[in-house]
Amino acid sequence: MSSDYVTHLECAYTGEVFEKGKVHTLSSAGKPLLVKYDLSRMRDEVSRDSIAGSSEAGFWRYSPLLPVSDAANRISLGEVVTPIVSLERSVEHLGISAGKVLVKDESRLPTASFKARGLCLAVSMAKEFGLEHLAIPTNGNAGSALAAYAARAGMRTTVLCPDNTPEINTSETLAQGGDTYLVNGLIGDCGKIIGEGKDELGWFAVSTLKEPYRIEGKKTMGLELAEQLGWELPDVIFYPTGGGTGLIGMWKAFHELLELGWIDCALPRMVAVQSTGCAPMVKAWQEGVEHAEFWEGAETEASGIRVPAAIGDFLILRAVRESEGFAIAVSDEELMDARDRIGREDGLLLCPEGAATFAAWEQALEQGLVSKDDRVVLFNTATGLKYPMPEVTERIDKDAPFDASLFL
Ligand SMILES: *Cc1c(COP(=O)(O)O)cnc(C)c1O
Repeated sequence: MSSDYVTHLECAYTGEVFEKGKVHTLSSAGKPLLVKYDLSRMRDEVSRDSIAGSSEAGFWRYSPLLPVSDAANRISLGEVVTPIVSLERSVEHLGISAGKVLVKDESRLPTASFKARGLCLAVSMAKEFGLEHLAIPTNGNAGSALAAYAARAGMRTTVLCPDNTPEINTSETLAQGGDTYLVNGLIGDCGKIIGEGKDELGWFAVSTLKEPYRIEGKKTMGLELAEQLGWELPDVIFYPTGGGTGLIGMWKAFHELLELGWIDCALPRMVAVQSTGCAPMVKAWQEGVEHAEFWEGAETEASGIRVPAAIGDFLILRAVRESEGFAIAVSDEELMDARDRIGREDGLLLCPEGAATFAAWEQALEQGLVSKDDRVVLFNTATGLKYPMPEVTERIDKDAPFDASLFL
């Protein structure tokens, strides 16, 4: 099936219109472009029941709402609809009933993070446009997802990571064919180098929101969530926010679903969760401004949200405000403690970014920003297995007499 509902692209800031079917980066105002669809025609031609009955794997079931015009250009590594897992034992002590706190577990996707959604679409569109060499600045998961999908598509990739990126991310990127480099700086420094090389080396940058299609991939989190909840939405969504693609993408998805008439419920409050070591959106939200200032000295174990400046800052803040949500920061200590508790009590090993959403929810509950009756969805954006884990220190000597007291 080919989906050809894209009408044009639009600058998210000025509304300037761009033609579809061409390679685009930012608008002339230097702001992100959003893909627009003919939703009134889609409304007549595609029903949500036909989506529900689709035999297509993973998010490709939403292909009418995706920009790839020729199915032959889809690059797939076996995307799945990620499960929603309800937290039970870890929320019981707060008097929360089962089914109220849900985790959308994105760790089940190829390359074990939700970056697969965005990079799958970016690479598929790069194939559609005949691009051959892609480059990315990354804190880890975006680089490995790009390398994997581009390898599959037979494209070359250059991946630049800050030199404190978790080693597992840089290694997996290399193992999946990415030309991988460590840079003695932050993600913005990596992006600058990529910008400098684009004319001489001819690579195309797939940096967050600097090309229009990663957001379309991340949008599928919102589409999936709606379908999985029976075309209803939760009261609140807690999202670990770095560049914000996922939050902006879901907010876009919800509006498209409303316009299609596939949902008619109230939209969720969108909560941007950051780390106290890097919280530019929280500061901007508190100050009531439209753009966030660069966050100096960004530092957190949750490397996916160690993003001191986001080009889509105004879109993140707009979604948070329009939805009557909020932005909130938690410390590394709080998020690591949350990770350990949820692992022990509910058997889910969250990534630090995902655990941050739980710590933020607990804090918001305490502050009265959300209530016990709110149905909330937390995003676990990657597998916990990619991050440092507790060390086992207890040892047993096989030659010593059995000693039951060791196991008490
Ligand atoms: C990239 C990343 C994030 C932040 O995602 P954005 O949509 O760019 O805000 C959160 N968690 C993990 C694990 C990531 O890799």
